[in-house]
Amino acid sequence: MRFVNQVVLVTGGGSGIGRAAALAFAAEGAAVAVAGRSPEPLAHTVKLVESAGGTASPVVADVTREDDVAAMVDSVVTRHGGLHVAFNNAGTFVPGGVADLAADEWSRALSVNLTGTWLSMKHEIAHMRAHGGGTIVNTASNLGAHARLPGIAAYVTSKAAVSALTRNAALEHIADGIRINAVSPGPVDTPMSLRPGETPADRAARLRTALPIGRVATLDEVTSAVLWLASPESGFTVGHDLVLDGGATA
Ligand code: NAD
Repeated sequence: MRFVNQVVLVTGGGSGIGRAAALAFAAEGAAVAVAGRSPEPLAHTVKLVESAGGTASPVVADVTREDDVAAMVDSVVTRHGGLHVAFNNAGTFVPGGVADLAADEWSRALSVNLTGTWLSMKHEIAHMRAHGGGTIVNTASNLGAHARLPGIAAYVTSKAAVSALTRNAALEHIADGIRINAVSPGPVDTPMSLRPGETPADRAARLRTALPIGRVATLDEVTSAVLWLASPESGFTVGHDLVLDGGATA
């Protein structure tokens, strides 16, 4: 129960890693606000948290829009009385190599993954530094600053930038009592790690040889790292980018 009396905001909380993290934070006592663009998946996450005995609320927000992000932070503070932890996890996978990408696809990847993370931190930090600090965890990817995979130029660029932005933000705000880190997962057990047309069984077959560990990461293996970075147990960890990739970059 590391998050009793803590308010946690999870962006991209209507699915995948974000939903699993919302459940994990709530199971450890947090009041969780889940943010995303569509109400239905957020309502489903809230229902799952509440069915497990936890507290959660939905916030509809597009992280690429500053007005939405400002309103998201305000509404979390109004609804739950504070904001102590933020998991900036909203993201989108955009395929396409340098010479093939359309300009609007390039912009979409940068806008959601990078600008969305920056805007979220901007408004979370504004609240946290005026109210005694907090912790922030951003979702980067091992396909950013760590691994090399051609054909996804905008995605890798956006995620490498999230790693760089995390380090910078951490240095700028540790003196405000705000501890900022990132996770960089390899392939995780969500639809995002499926290649076009691939089934989970196809993916399992591909990763048996493509990854040293021979499988995808479970959601628990990612959320447990996120919760550690968000908790006082990682109190001396600042500006770190925790790579969870089954040995891909070992
Ligand atoms: P996912 O698609 O289930 O989660 C992404 C979430 O972000 C969705 O709920 C989506 O609605 C939300 N989102 C997208 N654009 C948004 C916007 N503009 N505003 C608000 N919310 C928005 O996939 P996931 O696998 O759970 O991915 C979560 C994060 O983990 C992403 O940042 C992704 O890049 C990263 N990641 C995933 C993997 C993987 O293999 N699944 C590996 C490394 C990193």
